[in-house]
Amino acid sequence: MPAHQEETLLPETGYSTKVDNASQCIDLRSDTVTLPSAEMKKAMVEAILGDDVFGEDPTVNQLEKRCAALFGKEAALFVLSGTMGNLLAVLSHCQRGDELIVGRHNHIHKWEQGNYAQLGGISATTLKVNPDGTMDPNDIEDAIRANDQHMPRTALVCIENTHNFAGGKALSTDYLKSVRKLADKHKLKVHMDGARIYNAAIALNVDVSEICSYVDSMMMCFSKGLGAPMGSILVGTRQFIDEARKKRKAVGGGWRQAGILAACANLALDRAVETIERDHRHAKLLAKGINERTPEALKSSIHADEKDITNMVLVTCKDKVTTSQVVAFFQSHSILFMAFDSSRIRIVLNWGVCENDLHKILDIYQTFVDSIKI
Ligand SMILES: *Cc1c(COP(=O)(O)O)cnc(C)c1O
Repeated sequence: MPAHQEETLLPETGYSTKVDNASQCIDLRSDTVTLPSAEMKKAMVEAILGDDVFGEDPTVNQLEKRCAALFGKEAALFVLSGTMGNLLAVLSHCQRGDELIVGRHNHIHKWEQGNYAQLGGISATTLKVNPDGTMDPNDIEDAIRANDQHMPRTALVCIENTHNFAGGKALSTDYLKSVRKLADKHKLKVHMDGARIYNAAIALNVDVSEICSYVDSMMMCFSKGLGAPMGSILVGTRQFIDEARKKRKAVGGGWRQAGILAACANLALDRAVETIERDHRHAKLLAKGINERTPEALKSSIHADEKDITNMVLVTCKDKVTTSQVVAFFQSHSILFMAFDSSRIRIVLNWGVCENDLHKILDIYQTFVDSIKI
């Protein structure tokens, strides 16, 4: 390691910090922490396989066909992660030298290493993200480049639904319509990072295909709330997916007998609605329970957001309480949360968390507030 790196202590973000005894804890750091269910393991063993790079894995082919129909698009591509799906979408919509428009707090910009620039030679204009996960349509329109030799060509708008950094907020269909209209007016494509699109669909009480009807492409993760061990799907036109499939090979994503994972993804889809509905119910119970147990004198110091929540609870801490204090207290009781930034804790419900765990968490919360000197 170069000397200058040893001397610099970078702030600990906690977004992927290892916890040694995580398997013995109630883990709410993310919805990615779930382990495959017994039926998923069985499905892996029994999956009919082939070489997916040759297009010969029947389980993958079936999953891709199913997802294209489910999301109302011509074609689908099974990829190994959400990051890969987003990258392939951006690389397929944009040429080198093009520019995309993305929220400053969107996963594509914030947590994917700027791979669109690193690997694609694509630049970005980053916009403010509102607390509801939207970017202001006026900001989007202002960011579109003129046809001028000083400027890159604006090719793509990237939106996120549900919006992770906004605490899992779903974008309304009215908002999606307004983004579509704007994109059509300026001949831009729209890509949706729909890692948690089922959470959005259930929160809005609409079909996933309706949400997708406003965008050119969409990526969804099987590995988040749906509970599969890994894998994501990218959907769009046949031509777009052909391009993405070609690029997937270039980034090392040709993954042969991937049917073992497609089998899990298929099961995750069968159970999607019930799994996500349960998580949303749990998140509401938890947020409400936290606020009910917060004594009056602490109400301005610690508060759980109860508005429009999906599978996440954001707890804001200030004055008498810090995020690291809360996270450490719960960790000492074998309950794992994540400090999202300096003032917010993210608690993510997932199918590994049962109703009984919620009671335990609320009991520990009671112990916590009782321990604070007011
Ligand atoms: C997790 C996530 C991704 C990336 O998925 P990985 O499988 O972790 O690469 C993309 N977008 C959002 C909103 C996410 O939450």
